[in-house]
Amino acid sequence: MDLTANKKIFQLNAHTPRAVTAYRCETNFVRTECLVPFLNKPYFDSLCENGCPNYGSKWSCPPYAPDYKQFVKKYEYIYVFLLSIELEQLAYIRQQYLKVRAANTILKSRIDKALRSAMEENEYYISSGSCRLCKSCRKKADLPCAHPERMTYSFEAMGIDASLLAENLFQRELLWYREKQLPAYTSAVAGLLTNDKNENTKVVDALRKLS
Ligand code: SF4
Repeated sequence: MDLTANKKIFQLNAHTPRAVTAYRCETNFVRTECLVPFLNKPYFDSLCENGCPNYGSKWSCPPYAPDYKQFVKKYEYIYVFLLSIELEQLAYIRQQYLKVRAANTILKSRIDKALRSAMEENEYYISSGSCRLCKSCRKKADLPCAHPERMTYSFEAMGIDASLLAENLFQRELLWYREKQLPAYTSAVAGLLTNDKNENTKVVDALRKLS
């Protein structure tokens, strides 16, 4: 099955106090079941357990995050968003790793804000990282989630392999900062679950408004 048939590319700008940074937003609209081949929840849970301080300390992270296949049962379609920044633009930041962090902050904050504002009542969004609705997740104090209807999970927390997803839906490779080597670009991945079969660009429109 060709998973790239509905792929679209938008070129956008992010205005920050330091600069105007160009970024690319690729979107794809597929049935939720199309992502099931990229699911391996036990493997990604074990990676989190062995390498991430958030494991067990956020309600949106493993082992509390649900399995993608179970969670998306009530939704037929998903928009997937892949946002990327070419890091050579961030020459005004000296340290290589800080370029990646700054670019990730630009992308993650924008896509999460756009998804929150564009999402309708019967839809749900998959965030670009763990839930950031509270300054500190209530799980750390062993308290119930503060916003159970609004909290979000990431693809990775639900067991989806984001690298496979990017390759198959966008023919793009996710690059990482490794061994002090700056990659050419950095990316954020997010999604919107819906039952509306009519494709629209409301999330990209919301991204444009954020500028
Ligand atoms: S809404 Fe708050 S308490 Fe709930 S998962 Fe998000 S950060 Fe944690």
